Amino acid sequence: MSAPGSPFGSWLETDPEVARLIGEEFGRQTTTLQLIASENFTSPAVLAATGSVLTNKYSEGYPGARYYGGNRVIDEVEDLARERATSLFGAEHANVQPHSGASANLAAYQALLEPGDTVLAMRLDQGGHLTHGSPASITSKIWRFVAYGVTPPSDDPDVPGEVIDFDQVRDLAKSEQPKLIVAGSTAYTRTIDPEPFRQIADEVGARLMFDAAHPAGLIAGGAHPSPVGIADVVTFTTHKTLRGPRAGAILTSAELAKKIDSAIFPGLQGGPLEHVIAAKAVAFAEAARPEFRRYAASVVANAKAFAAALAAEGLRLVSGGTDNHMVLVDLRSFDPDLTGKAAQEVLDRSGITCNRNTIPGDPRSPFVTSGLRLGTAAETTAGMGEAEMARIAELIGRTLRGRDDPEALGAVRAEVAELCAAFPPYPGLVGST
Ligand SMILES: *Cc1c(COP(=O)(O)O)cnc(C)c1O
Repeated sequence: MSAPGSPFGSWLETDPEVARLIGEEFGRQTTTLQLIASENFTSPAVLAATGSVLTNKYSEGYPGARYYGGNRVIDEVEDLARERATSLFGAEHANVQPHSGASANLAAYQALLEPGDTVLAMRLDQGGHLTHGSPASITSKIWRFVAYGVTPPSDDPDVPGEVIDFDQVRDLAKSEQPKLIVAGSTAYTRTIDPEPFRQIADEVGARLMFDAAHPAGLIAGGAHPSPVGIADVVTFTTHKTLRGPRAGAILTSAELAKKIDSAIFPGLQGGPLEHVIAAKAVAFAEAARPEFRRYAASVVANAKAFAAALAAEGLRLVSGGTDNHMVLVDLRSFDPDLTGKAAQEVLDRSGITCNRNTIPGDPRSPFVTSGLRLGTAAETTAGMGEAEMARIAELIGRTLRGRDDPEALGAVRAEVAELCAAFPPYPGLVGST
């Protein structure tokens, strides 16, 4: 017997407990709908590189300048990943060592700021990330964060509402004189244009960091404007729309290369995860292929179709729609008593996996919320298209309306299973049916 869900499953026979858990998670991922906007299905090649012997090697330092011996091959692996990253994004320099998006952001701050410096970033309850100055994050203990937000909702279809308020960004930049402006968000469904941020940063003499954790794959695939060459530093995760292993990376100019590299090592991390760096190299090459451009375009087309179908179910969309891979739903329009938490929990029972999310001006706490965030990156990888998005929206509507009716929920669960069986994300992988 081999453990499902791993390209090296049979080796796990020596540890049936872990093998069972991996198998169970494989089952969950392939029999329920994965609509968490920050998740995706990596390729079997990415899984294989992540599960390789490269995990055994210590390689503190950078290619050609390591502290330990035996790094000839590892140097080639990391050089390949760096070359593929710079070529994919058209950047002068790439650091592929960040263990995560959070590490990448911390390193960028460390490279560009002194403790106590002011940073202007997006409000946490409107889509800013924890590393953009949450009181719970170390970032807010080292640097002083000031936050910009989105415009109020609009009743006029010609005036977009709930979009980044650039007047506010400029006013705050002028009054607070930040050393760094951060563009980027975890829950913003519109294109984030790097140009107005650059303009404002130049007006006040600030550096600009673009946190592309979410849209990195859309940028690589040409479905979102690239901040490379506009922002001083671009940080991103490799596991969201980019569809690589769980990790981070940083792109920057040649001028800032040394500062960024020293901020990651020895500034923040020890030995790099070279198995994950090899998997990043695989993902960068995959993202450079024409199929990936088609993938990025489908992710966006699917999100637009999904948004329209959710609106038809009576769910209000924050900002009225989407330009990227996610939609943010305001549940109050559907039922003022339905919280994000309750909706997430009942959708879980239907086999529809998503997350509760605060919406701009949310009266409820981040643990309860009035919103749901839904993304199309993963199920688009599995092959779903606009017709399936419309069907999923209908299943979501039925789940929320029938939330107190176990029979209705059971019927939805059966349809979800049927849909998942028709779109297996890993048709070739051990354990797949
Ligand atoms: C996901 C995300 C991160 C952090 O990535 P991790 O790999 O979870 O540390 C940082 N910034 C933004 C905007 C994100 O969405």
